[in-house]
Amino acid sequence: MLYAGIEAGGTKFVCAVGNGPANILAETRFPTTSPTETIAQAISFFQEQQVLHGKLHSVGIAAFGPLDLNPASSAFGSITTTPKIPWAHFNIMQAVQQALNVPVILDTDVNGAAFGEWRWGAGQGLECLVYLTIGTGVGGGLLINGKLAHGLVHPEMGHILLPHDRSRDPFAGACPYHGDCLEGLAAGPAMEKRWGKRAETLPADHPAWDLEAEYIAKALVNFICTLSPQRLILGGGVMAQPQLFPMVRLKVNQLLNSYVNSSSLLDKELLEGYIVPPGLGNRSGVLGALALAELAE
Ligand code: ADP
Ligand code: ZN
Repeated sequence: MLYAGIEAGGTKFVCAVGNGPANILAETRFPTTSPTETIAQAISFFQEQQVLHGKLHSVGIAAFGPLDLNPASSAFGSITTTPKIPWAHFNIMQAVQQALNVPVILDTDVNGAAFGEWRWGAGQGLECLVYLTIGTGVGGGLLINGKLAHGLVHPEMGHILLPHDRSRDPFAGACPYHGDCLEGLAAGPAMEKRWGKRAETLPADHPAWDLEAEYIAKALVNFICTLSPQRLILGGGVMAQPQLFPMVRLKVNQLLNSYVNSSSLLDKELLEGYIVPPGLGNRSGVLGALALAELAE
């Protein structure tokens, strides 16, 4: 079977054809411009691949959102309230489905990444896992009872509200909707606004990292207490700072204060296997999209 995956990001699209990390036949990436132009680029790539390798079975799309994922809704398959104006209310699922005439499965970028990690990465064999990206935004994907969670709309874990000690951190927060939600306090752009420098230019011993680890740890504690995930996978540009992982693990352990009775949280060595980087590196999204395609009948 030949599957196609689209990681549809706010700044770039990554498209791949194949059937797993060990068998990618072709891959391309290009900047996200207008919906018509960007989708046309993806379609012509897939059409070329079909000439070379035969008919695609299905397409998976892991897209920035928010998305309408309710099959009963007239806007099913659309990007909804995004501030990226030309994409607001664009039906990405329908556009791809009509152009290629194959089944299309759509989910959020982070649910896609969670699914990719579950299928081929650091989440294999688990029933419940969270994938959190900390990059331009903060977003979480959730697999629960072996299935991606949608619910009312879909989880928006990047916008949870956290205790914010303004005497320690007077920064008001950068989320246009909530100010000091998790994304507003901890995404890459929030770090840049607070410290006046891009996160990747802050030295490893800068106080920014202790504060960053604190916000991430508080968020993870909330996810652990509400969802009871068997593993938390942290990706995105900001998590490329290797010093963050041990700091986050230690703070999670301290904040929980031995209350959640699992050796994964109590034992420092096991905690290293509980809060982990993505097994697929920065390929969880595109491979997750491919894994979504496998769900099509
Ligand atoms: P996106 O979220 O758009 O897919 P990234 O995950 O690469 O993209 O996140 C980009 C953000 O991550 C930017 O705000 C950037 O400053 C920050 N970032 C990128 N690389 C690093 C790094 N090595 N260390 C810390 N922050 C980084
Ligand atoms: Zn917010």
